[in-house]
Amino acid sequence: MLRFFRYFLELVYPSRCPGCGKLIHTGGDLWCWQCQTQVWNPRMIRSSYTEHLSGCYTLTDYAKGMRKCLIDLKFNHKVSSARGFHLFLEKFPWWDSLADFRVAIPVPLSMEHARQRGYNQTDIIFEDWMIKQGKTYLSDGIIKIRNTVPQSQLLRNDRRHNLEHAFHVNRDVSLKGEKVLLLDDIYTTGSTMEAAAKALKMAGASEVTGMVMASKAP
Ligand SMILES: [Zn+2]
Repeated sequence: MLRFFRYFLELVYPSRCPGCGKLIHTGGDLWCWQCQTQVWNPRMIRSSYTEHLSGCYTLTDYAKGMRKCLIDLKFNHKVSSARGFHLFLEKFPWWDSLADFRVAIPVPLSMEHARQRGYNQTDIIFEDWMIKQGKTYLSDGIIKIRNTVPQSQLLRNDRRHNLEHAFHVNRDVSLKGEKVLLLDDIYTTGSTMEAAAKALKMAGASEVTGMVMASKAP
């Protein structure tokens, strides 16, 4: 019955690949095979630059269909593109090694961006999934207390300085001894995640590991 219903839905609302927009009739995977293989690249990024962040898992490369999907989500208000991200969360091969990370917290937007956009794209990507995995998801676990110059306009050393003391852990949140999964949409140099990880450590977190949907890092 369920299969019939799904078949019926597909006839009425055929799926389009979130990466390229092509019609697909797979009955399962949402992305076409070509778009998936172009971006799927799960790995751990470790940088000598990050001290408080133990490392960061990325699921995909920030390229092709993934780049389009994230731009749609952030700048074209296409919240519906969120379903396109779940496939990669499902495929992520190392959930077992993250079993003792009970708390997941997104990197926050500045107040100004949050107001303009109306949502934090990182919540859209991860929140439902993390709750399903049994994690405690704290969307306001970290607050950004001042606006900063966009990181893309700065050199690496200035980036760190720019973010100094920009993040604070919400005072209602207790993280003593917790291993925290710190989430963001994109990893570029790691300086944003490092600044947020430092705030989490100062609030008592015993370990902070990152996870992002896509990375620009090689
Ligand atoms: Zn495609």
